Amino acid sequence: MEHIVIIGNGISGVTTARHIRKLSDKKITVISAETDHFFSRTALMYIYMGHMKYEHTKPYEDYFWKKNRIELKRGFVKTVNHQEKQLEFTEGDTMSYDKLVIAVGSKSNKFGWPGQDLNGVQGLYSKQDLDALEEYAPNNNTCKRAVIVGGGLIGIELAEMLSTRNIPVTFLVRENSFWNGVLPEGESEMLNRHIKNHHIDLRLGMNLKEILSGENGKARAVVVAETGEELPCDVVGLTAGVSPNIDFLKESGIELGRGVKVNRFLETNIPDIYAIGDCAEQHEPIGNRRPIEAVWYTGRMMGETLAQTICGNPLEYKPGHWFNSAKFFDIEYQTYGWVFANKKEYETHFHWKHEDDTKCITVAYHKDSKLFLGINTFGIRMRHEVFDRWLTEKRDIDFVVHNLSEANFDPEFYKKFESQVLSEYNNQSVSV
Ligand SMILES: Cc1cc2nc3c(=O)[nH]c(=O)nc-3n(C[C@H](O)[C@H](O)[C@H](O)COP(=O)(O)OP(=O)(O)OC[C@H]3O[C@@H](n4cnc5c(N)ncnc54)[C@H](O)[C@@H]3O)c2cc1C
Repeated sequence: MEHIVIIGNGISGVTTARHIRKLSDKKITVISAETDHFFSRTALMYIYMGHMKYEHTKPYEDYFWKKNRIELKRGFVKTVNHQEKQLEFTEGDTMSYDKLVIAVGSKSNKFGWPGQDLNGVQGLYSKQDLDALEEYAPNNNTCKRAVIVGGGLIGIELAEMLSTRNIPVTFLVRENSFWNGVLPEGESEMLNRHIKNHHIDLRLGMNLKEILSGENGKARAVVVAETGEELPCDVVGLTAGVSPNIDFLKESGIELGRGVKVNRFLETNIPDIYAIGDCAEQHEPIGNRRPIEAVWYTGRMMGETLAQTICGNPLEYKPGHWFNSAKFFDIEYQTYGWVFANKKEYETHFHWKHEDDTKCITVAYHKDSKLFLGINTFGIRMRHEVFDRWLTEKRDIDFVVHNLSEANFDPEFYKKFESQVLSEYNNQSVSV
């Protein structure tokens, strides 16, 4: 019987396994160095904040895997020998495969900062990171301050987590405004204020120089590059992005860029080896999408697609229109299509912000044709399927702004702002 081996028990690897089982009787093994069972990485923060226990983050009961004949193996794959179709583990044992799926996810970036490997210095990615955070920032007032380095989605999550335990947080952000490489100015500036309103000591335009060691190899302070200031702390969160976790593949002969290079069928340069999820890098970007997309739903989509190919129905990966969502403390953020922080030469934005400074909308459209290109919403929850349809139907800005209530998740709530949004739109005189 053909043996499908999947390295990685995250959303992409586990989706592949489940769908191969639905479609076939193949032998399936899922390997993970991290945990025995699949859990929801996006829920890590809720464990620390006390809303959930680790057990609650497992989407399937532990008996699910045996019942569905999906074998689980705990271990770290050290090498892939594609000539012999064999894996070697750090413990020295080996495993043969007929087809191999690389679904190894990401790792937190570290840029060679002095002190980055001290105790109490960590990213926020794995279950092990969560356990370390519990050790160095426990819920008993012994952690006097945390410093977070790197302002993105994970950095702000970590800031929220720590502040729920009343741990003072200093947040070093290299950019002059929070996440302004992704968000247009008005939104980014609104978030600067929101973060400060949550008593986070936000330091914009500041970089980490080094982390100083105290007793027992534990971090005791962070030095700021720009000012030389020493910030005493008990824990340092490194959240300056993630990158594919592929160091173990360097000598494998599998083509690597920043991630594992794949074509539209998620195939690598080596026959019978595929890559999916955070670690996969498209040779050619699909439409406007990035070649590597480290988000949950794309991992799931790639897993579903690849299962078809492996089971004899070759299927191209077609992710459709880009969307994403996140939370910045109390503000929910959603994005559909593309709203670029640095506007493309063809792009114009309509921006509306509520006077309470926690809600805003930015719609991007083509300056000549008025074609709707994308929307960002903050503090107002929208319906994915509506924007997806409007992007496919190639609607214009006028249509989108006049029909926003249709896209709103809570039309009663939206009615409160509708007239303001429309009058702002008319003021900006962008009607077609
Ligand atoms: C704190 C946090 C919050 C997030 N929130 C969101 C969100 O709200 N929305 C969203 O869309 N995305 C979010 N993401 C991103 C999302 O979780 C990831 O895109 C997704 O989990 C990636 O899934 P994956 O299957 O590609 O890899 P992973 O989930 O990383 O799984 C890969 C697994 O492979 C294992 N592995 C790696 N190398 C080896 C090896 N050599 N041998 C054995 N095992 C190995 C790893 O230990 C890991 O368990 C968040 C991420 C984090 C860290």
